[in-house]
Amino acid sequence: MSSFPLAGRRVYVAGHRGMVGRALVRRLEREPCTLLTATRAELDLTRQAAVEAWMRAERPDLVVIAAAEVGGILANASRPVDFLERNLLIEINLIRAAAETGVRRLLFLGSSCIYPRDCPQPIREDALLSGPLEPTNQWYAIAKIAGLKLCQAYRRQHGLAYVTAMPTNLYGPFDNFDPAGSHVVPGLLRRMHEAKLRGDAAVAIWGTGRPRRELLHVDDLADACVLLLQRYDDELPVNVGCGEDLTIAELAALVRAAVGFAGELVFDPSKPDGTPRKLLDVSRLRALGWRPRVPLEEGLRATYAWFREHAADGV
Ligand code: GDP
Repeated sequence: MSSFPLAGRRVYVAGHRGMVGRALVRRLEREPCTLLTATRAELDLTRQAAVEAWMRAERPDLVVIAAAEVGGILANASRPVDFLERNLLIEINLIRAAAETGVRRLLFLGSSCIYPRDCPQPIREDALLSGPLEPTNQWYAIAKIAGLKLCQAYRRQHGLAYVTAMPTNLYGPFDNFDPAGSHVVPGLLRRMHEAKLRGDAAVAIWGTGRPRRELLHVDDLADACVLLLQRYDDELPVNVGCGEDLTIAELAALVRAAVGFAGELVFDPSKPDGTPRKLLDVSRLRALGWRPRVPLEEGLRATYAWFREHAADGV
């Protein structure tokens, strides 16, 4: 088992204004390291020269790539260029600049949607590229697979400790609650909240309600990342999940309880279901001794409380 203590290190979190990046910053603030961040105005991650200059000036020891163009099932389908091109640029620029400026250790975050659509479940890390992708998020998936491969290539050719983690579906504070771009949890929290305020009798749930998803609170992901940064050094990606899934219908019922919406849930099969099931095999992560801490009901209640507090800010 390798060990890379964080004490005294300069850790750059790329993408610190997103849901994952903010959770990483909150978690890393508890470690004895120096955090480095740059806003979009300070550093455009799609510009190679700017990224390299910033890295040369700031000299991080470790880099975590949480910066990405992300979105739910409809956003992916409607903005394929953004999902493919921006993600490729961001990851190539960051990984290359890290290597050129002597960063020895890097954690690249992918997503469970990089795995083939019809994988045996739970999905093991070695299922990567064993079959066709889910078409609704292929743009994002291809970009993330390229990022993972680039990390593997730098390991092989330059001996750098660049590793990849594949989180399952995430939720939590600072998620995107915009109905056009959101994932299922923020999408449903907002719709049911608004339906409750209006006193609606029913709320629409996209798809058939039958797909299954595994959901992890973003604070649990951040905690797993801090462990991986210090202890993991292998070419295979590491899945990060809780190891349990549920149907969208079951999830919608939990969201209804968290929001306190009394109306009916009506399924809308004219909207896409996406991948039928996406449960990660998390035995590699468990073997490192890691366990998630936030139960789903509790996480949904906390995320709803956060949304109500920030809804006025236009989240
Ligand atoms: P995915 O895991 O990449 O498919 O991402 P999503 O979180 O966007 O969707 C997960 C599942 O939830 C899909 O089957 C959607 O059809 C379903 N779903 C139900 N209601 C909603 C909603 O309001 N927003 C989103 N994004 N998905 C929803």
